[in-house]
Amino acid sequence: MVKMRSFQRGFITLAALVLVIVLTACSSNAETSSGGKLQVTATTGMIADVAREVGGAYVDVTGLMGPGVDPHLYKASQGDIRKLEQAKVIFYNGLHLEGKMTDILEKMSSSKLVTAVTETIPVEELHSGKDTGGTEYDPHVWFNVSHWMHAAEAVRDTLVEADPDHAEEYKAQAEAYLAKLEVLDAEVREKILEIPEASRVLVTAHDAFGYFGQAYGMKVMGLQGISTAAEYGAKDVSELRDYLVDNHIKAVFVESSVPAKAMEAIIAGAAQKGHTVNIGGELFSDAMGAEGTEEGTYIGMIRHNVETIVEALK
Ligand code: ZN
Repeated sequence: MVKMRSFQRGFITLAALVLVIVLTACSSNAETSSGGKLQVTATTGMIADVAREVGGAYVDVTGLMGPGVDPHLYKASQGDIRKLEQAKVIFYNGLHLEGKMTDILEKMSSSKLVTAVTETIPVEELHSGKDTGGTEYDPHVWFNVSHWMHAAEAVRDTLVEADPDHAEEYKAQAEAYLAKLEVLDAEVREKILEIPEASRVLVTAHDAFGYFGQAYGMKVMGLQGISTAAEYGAKDVSELRDYLVDNHIKAVFVESSVPAKAMEAIIAGAAQKGHTVNIGGELFSDAMGAEGTEEGTYIGMIRHNVETIVEALK
């Protein structure tokens, strides 16, 4: 009994302490702007880039996941939680891309505008991954440029809602960006045609390019499923190796956000069977390139990937 009471007292003290910390944090992290700009926090680099394009001079965008970061495995740090708390608007991908951030994003949505940029993509345009039994949608929608245009529209609509004073500017900036994406979409379609039809096979470390393959006419194979959180086994390695050997595939691709060792094992396996496979280059799958480089933007990353793929397979 005595033990119980002291436990309860301890709990009340702890609860009071937590309340003080929360109140202090709230008063110092006013959700308002620095220099009058709308504070926006985005999870992946691709989403942050869209928010900067559509928001222009009226937003201050913080991206959480930098170059080389794998969103499937990403856990929010204390610093990230602060950046989410400070934002007036939060953008994330959704479709379980940020699998380990679901709870925190849900919690944030009770006090601010939180938008999954994929939510306006018509559900019939989505597909499931090979190892999800149809229960989970493939989250890598940015590789179909026309799907990503829906994301830009979702960003526009949320910014207009959060900051109606600049509605006209957001609409105009979105229109200009959407026009660029339309050009990009046509450019990708055309470029892939430079690869002989039988060689239009894209082999990567994980299944990030399903929408890309579907939109632009390539067969796509990944060693891991649509999430890098899934394990792969010796059977997956030997099946993919045999596919490369049997179909005379000459190049596979590594990804900037996934360790290269799995693909290296497959290349070594094919070599033992007398077939030479090269690494066709590094693709940006779930993270963009370094800030300030061409690949550090969404449009630049798509162009880099397509040039790399075409160069290796044509
Ligand atoms: Zn992925």
